[in-house]
Amino acid sequence: MRFEVKPYPELSWSISRQRKLDRCPRAFYCSYYLAWNGWLDDAPAESRMAYRLNKLTSLDALLGQQIDERARELEAAARSGQPLPSAAELEARTREALRRAWQTSRSGRTAFERKPGKTVMLRSVYLEQDTRPETDRLNQKAGPCMAGLLAASHWERLRACGDAGRIEIPAFASFQYDGLKVFAAPDLAYVHEGTLHVIDWKSGREDDTNPTQVLLQMWWALGTYHELEGLAVHGHLEYVAAGRTQPVDPTRDFKAQAAASVREGVARMRALLSDPERNIPLEMEAFEQRESGLCRTCNFAPICE
Ligand code: SF4
Repeated sequence: MRFEVKPYPELSWSISRQRKLDRCPRAFYCSYYLAWNGWLDDAPAESRMAYRLNKLTSLDALLGQQIDERARELEAAARSGQPLPSAAELEARTREALRRAWQTSRSGRTAFERKPGKTVMLRSVYLEQDTRPETDRLNQKAGPCMAGLLAASHWERLRACGDAGRIEIPAFASFQYDGLKVFAAPDLAYVHEGTLHVIDWKSGREDDTNPTQVLLQMWWALGTYHELEGLAVHGHLEYVAAGRTQPVDPTRDFKAQAAASVREGVARMRALLSDPERNIPLEMEAFEQRESGLCRTCNFAPICE
């Protein structure tokens, strides 16, 4: 198959992309435009650097991935009628995975620089920052997150479902809206007794945009699996660290509500393009450097002058 190098990424929308733009337009530019094609050996040095920085991660992000993994294990155990692992077992697996990521970051600098997409690298380690705040936070959060996950209401329903009511969720679940790809993958979705449940795990703080994220995930599920139309739908924002569930119950016109968020966000992204058809951005200087407390944990701080 012939490999085609595209000079610009495809314009698409997701709520996480929108949050990135809202937090800092310059970081958004670095992540989506400057880093584009930075994986190519003959890419400009600044693109390769931005691509590498874009691949840096944090213990908080890795904990989020581990919560997804543990949730999949809990789903499998519940559906097959096996006993659920204890919170202590879940925590031990999570800590082991994070320990491996930590060790890889400590020893894998050369491997990461050679292939940034293939090696886990913590930002704090790579940029030689103080790692203590991050590890302290992780130590405080890991146990409560696993206890909160285990206490979620879904496992008993899934036990009753057995193999029925599965909703397959591709890694990059998306739908088309207004000629644009909108990414909106739930973390878990299933049908139990005539109700579609759509779930998003959250290990961080509450955010006003989180309910919209779940509405978009419902939109994806109903648009992808037409046999779900007509079912009752319940959304669940599971704040696992706090052990709190925020229900998200869609109104009759929830798609219009979610669509308004997409349109408004896309308009703000398009305003930063010189060629909206080809998704060519304005010059970097047009993307405001919005300095805030987030600069301390920004991947692009080394190239943000
Ligand atoms: S360091 Fe601060 S101003 Fe610069 S890109 Fe990051 S968040 Fe934006």
